[in-house]
Amino acid sequence: MIFDKFREECGVAGVYGDDEAANLVYLCLYALQHRGQEGAGIAALDGNQIHAEKGLGLVSDIFTQERLSRLNGSVAIGHNRYSTSGANLLKNTQPIVAEINKGQVALAHNGNIVNAHKIRERLVQNGAIFTSTSDSEIIIHLIAKSEKDNLEDAIIDSLSELKGAYSIIFMTENHMIGIRDPLGIRPLILGKKRTGYVLVSETCALDLIEAEFIREIEPGEMIIIGEEGIKSVKPFDKAVPKPCIFEFIYFARPDSLIFNNYVYDIRKKMGAKLAEENPVDADIVIPVPDSGIVATLGYSEKSGIPFELGLIRNHYVGRTFIEPSQSIRHFGVKIKLNPVKSVINGKRIVVVDDSIVRGTTSRKIVKMLREAGAKEVHFRVSSPPTMFPCFYGIDTPTRKELIASTHDLEEIRKYITADSLGYLSLQGMCQCVGEMNYCDACFSGDYPTMYIDEDEFNPKVN
Ligand code: SF4
Repeated sequence: MIFDKFREECGVAGVYGDDEAANLVYLCLYALQHRGQEGAGIAALDGNQIHAEKGLGLVSDIFTQERLSRLNGSVAIGHNRYSTSGANLLKNTQPIVAEINKGQVALAHNGNIVNAHKIRERLVQNGAIFTSTSDSEIIIHLIAKSEKDNLEDAIIDSLSELKGAYSIIFMTENHMIGIRDPLGIRPLILGKKRTGYVLVSETCALDLIEAEFIREIEPGEMIIIGEEGIKSVKPFDKAVPKPCIFEFIYFARPDSLIFNNYVYDIRKKMGAKLAEENPVDADIVIPVPDSGIVATLGYSEKSGIPFELGLIRNHYVGRTFIEPSQSIRHFGVKIKLNPVKSVINGKRIVVVDDSIVRGTTSRKIVKMLREAGAKEVHFRVSSPPTMFPCFYGIDTPTRKELIASTHDLEEIRKYITADSLGYLSLQGMCQCVGEMNYCDACFSGDYPTMYIDEDEFNPKVN
């Protein structure tokens, strides 16, 4: 592992009513690449037949001109995968396409179903055969087993059983359907392009294809798009929405608008709040790029400490980087980040990152800055200590591995060898995002659903 981060989840996109549907979805997946880099797929409805192209790796590696040319039709949906449940295998890539008793259906899912395991066990006992280890496949089985004749009713029926996070785009023989779970944990946006409609995880995808932003799908809302136009229904029991606050801190792109807020603005506010709560005398403030950049701007503006780019990131190092040989191994974070010595040398430095997960990367960054001549290194984190794992579609280490779960502030400071360490407070973070309630369970342990892993929540820390 080169970077010690919570890992992104998945990105979804769908286009209805455009002859270039698959090409537009392909572009949307490009814009959403940050949400998942392990695999991607597009399914298109050609006449009344669904055809899919899927692969492992980045969108640019998977979709050749030839593969895209096989995806005809005016409706298409797509998915970028990061495996939070199920291994990184081709069989787990999405969209999942199935021919069931109610017709053909394809689905692209962002999120994580927390009661998937229990439902899957029950389905297997009743004879269901699964072709993947992804929790999203249970949705297809539930739809097939539903006693409702109509596919839309069967979808509602099946989703009513699920607990957890789901922003899903379905494609049926006649419709494209977008659904957000009642807590609205993951985003899902509705846009319009020429004659058609677009559903995407973030607005940065709408911007790329020059689609107009209409609105967010509301928590618990189901949007059915067809020849007859758009229909909105709210079929689930009402709940207090709890969108994921970490989308603002790290996952979403800063140029996106999600949960009715610009990510950039919120991230900058968090940096300013961090400066207010954790002031320090220093010569420059630098970000850990790229995710720390916007918060650092906020820190710099608030504190008056000049902003510099003291660390440069190599953007061409993928997840699959392999250390070349035993004798020159352990590049670690150096392969991705390099200090600018003329900026760092002899300075008292504040370095801002969006989070500390295990602490291993932060420790290497501090060491790297000292080796580049930093006089002092003050580490600042634009979120509260991450103490609990996420069960809603984000890949997090176990609670035992989260440094803030087992160490206090001073112990973490010592471990990362910084001169001082400061986190944004939970209260400070909530002030930056306004009135709405958010899920902040990875900081507070206050999970918005049942069925979380009890051992993880209450670990027997050795
Ligand atoms: S636990 Fe954290 S990462 Fe997971 S949904 Fe809640 S805020 Fe987001």
